[in-house]
Amino acid sequence: MTPSVAPAAIHDLIGIGFGPSNLALAIALRERAQQQGALDVLFLDKQADYRWHGNTLVTQSELQISFLKDLVTLRNPSSPYSFVNYLHAHDRLVDFINLGTFYPCRMEYNDYLRWVAAQFSEQSRYGEEVLAIEPLLHNQKVESLRVISRDSHGETFVRQTRAVVVSAGGTPRIPEAFRSLKGDARVFHHAHYLERMAQQPCVSGKPMRVAIIGGGQSAAEAFIDLNDSFPSVQVDMILRGSALKPADDSPFVNEVFSPEFTDLVFSQTGAERERFIREYHNTNYSVVDIDLIERIYGIFYRQKVSGVQRHAFHHLRTVERATAHGDGIELALRHSASGELDVHRYDAVVLATGYERQMHRHLLEPLSQYLGDFDVDRDYRVITDARCQAAVYMQGFCQASHGLSDTLLSVLPIRANDIASSLYDYLGHQSLSSAPRAPLLATAS
Ligand SMILES: Cc1cc2nc3c(=O)[nH]c(=O)nc-3n(C[C@H](O)[C@H](O)[C@H](O)COP(=O)(O)OP(=O)(O)OC[C@H]3O[C@@H](n4cnc5c(N)ncnc54)[C@H](O)[C@@H]3O)c2cc1C
Repeated sequence: MTPSVAPAAIHDLIGIGFGPSNLALAIALRERAQQQGALDVLFLDKQADYRWHGNTLVTQSELQISFLKDLVTLRNPSSPYSFVNYLHAHDRLVDFINLGTFYPCRMEYNDYLRWVAAQFSEQSRYGEEVLAIEPLLHNQKVESLRVISRDSHGETFVRQTRAVVVSAGGTPRIPEAFRSLKGDARVFHHAHYLERMAQQPCVSGKPMRVAIIGGGQSAAEAFIDLNDSFPSVQVDMILRGSALKPADDSPFVNEVFSPEFTDLVFSQTGAERERFIREYHNTNYSVVDIDLIERIYGIFYRQKVSGVQRHAFHHLRTVERATAHGDGIELALRHSASGELDVHRYDAVVLATGYERQMHRHLLEPLSQYLGDFDVDRDYRVITDARCQAAVYMQGFCQASHGLSDTLLSVLPIRANDIASSLYDYLGHQSLSSAPRAPLLATAS
């Protein structure tokens, strides 16, 4: 039954996830508060502390976007939360300039994000996974929302809010053939790469055969890391496509990641929006940075020169079957051109198979009768029927309406500004600064 409670002191906004999207929003709200009054905002993240795709931060990986597209610069170049100010605060500005790059390594960018996140510790709680967002009814209207979360000790928290912003990121995509191997420590998604590799026998120099499934950036980064960090590992790259294809980041094409392009995509009909996304798919999906492709090609070429074939490249292959045995994982690979089936055995399998964006559907399921099919307005607010007055925003789940930037870092500061502006309008300026601080409604073990 839908709960109905009297309005109590409530948060103005609860953010689900505290990745770059909600960090950018936290900054935009703090900077706006100087003119418009502070909101009562709280961000919840299931991770134990701030990490940006922490298990993928291999030494060679670099940001795939200019550092100038940090959390603030596009909106407010004089913000203290810029990447340049982070470098300055860490006494590395001159050295970074000497590097002559727009693409810092991802480890450094993670450190930048952690540095910003630490400045919002009073507005954030880590180690709490949000389980559901439920309606709170008053006179048959959804005037506020109940956010239910659980910490790592199993304690449940219930909070009330006028608005939520769901920015929970992607969920690892596990291909059908591997679903039954869930729980087998030898098969893991790239999202868990570092922690799982640390448990493999190759860490102590034992020989291993590892398969990487996929032909995108993550697969390429895993290949380079296995090649460089684990000399006892033999890697098979297994991909459906015929080749590793380069990400198109040429300047005219890059304009699809400009804030103006979001307006353009949003103003189109559904079919036209889809066409834009298809046309520029190769800027982001199933593609690899050209310098990484060249390195990988070089590694395979040197194998030909030396005659020592350490790694193998299996293109045009679909994994038809994956079976766990005591001495390895057996993969049956179908060649899409010849139709032949090969069987190989591996000590570990890395699934560099991308991410799904479905978390919003799961978290907002209790509100489904008010939401339709998660259509969003230009301000990223989910369109609801008249009974739902509470505001639901989404970041990272609006690619179909707002274009390819939505799942990336490209327009974070501008999007944060759009949401902040909409949120202030929704809440109404007058009541903001006087709102009482929000308590927990309840906690239960
Ligand atoms: C390995 C990798 C590298 C990337 N590199 C780039 C790049 O170089 N450039 C670029 O533009 N984009 C890149 N991306 C795309 C990526 O989506 C963005 O960089 C960025 O992380 C998006 O930020 P976000 O806050 O929307 O999502 P995320 O960064 O995914 O953050 C979501 C947060 O929500 C938390 N969360 C999830 N579910 C819950 C829940 N139920 N309750 C509480 N918390 C929850 C997670 O713990 C996480 O901290 C990369 C993605 C990956 C996977």
